[in-house]
Amino acid sequence: MTRDYPQARARMVETQLRRRGLRDARVLEAFLRVPRHRFVDPALDGEAYADRALPIGFGQTISQPYMVALMTCALAPERHDRVLEVGTGSGYQAAILSRLVHTVFTIERIAPLAERARALFRELDLTNVIERVGDGSIGWISYAPYQGIIVTAGAPEIPPSLLAQLADGGRLVVPAGSRANQSLLVVTRRGEHYERREETACVFVPLLGKEGWGDD
Ligand code: SAH
Repeated sequence: MTRDYPQARARMVETQLRRRGLRDARVLEAFLRVPRHRFVDPALDGEAYADRALPIGFGQTISQPYMVALMTCALAPERHDRVLEVGTGSGYQAAILSRLVHTVFTIERIAPLAERARALFRELDLTNVIERVGDGSIGWISYAPYQGIIVTAGAPEIPPSLLAQLADGGRLVVPAGSRANQSLLVVTRRGEHYERREETACVFVPLLGKEGWGDD
């Protein structure tokens, strides 16, 4: 059976995003365009636009559409921005961002996930996504500073390296808390001051690595 993906996306955007208060037109447009079903296992095709996170292998998940959208809005992406994503996973969040900003740098620690995402970026012609394998808890110094940094795994506390790699006026979106549950924090850099607000409660897979939970 061939599914009507554009229709499934339109319904997702209306019922899961717009009706829950996410109204940024550019962000919603990105969700209408990016084929989420390409980022999930073909066996889960029927669930691709469902209102939940889905497994992507290696004990990891692609986040619920609403959470991806909420984090994207919290990042307040602008066209000329360079954005760092920590935790490429399926590549879906990076693909959404690629439509909204100038360049997306994304790091994943699990090589096979990174490779799968890289192949998808190429197939979908997302030429402004640069990815690599590594520990993103310490950021990606070569291209710093970033106007936006988004962490899609739960940290024990805000990684200092990520704060340091934020441009003046830049926003860092990071779930922080215990392993079981976190708060989605949004930190805005103002010179050497950092303003911090809490967006919502959330549950993410752990951020491992040097400034995460350690390497286990
Ligand atoms: N943004 C992803 C969500 C992936 S889940 C998506 O749209 O699908 C979080 C990902 O973070 C997992 O793939 C996990 O392997 C990765 N991760 C955890 N700790 C990391 C670290 N220190 N550096 C890079 N990636 C990390």
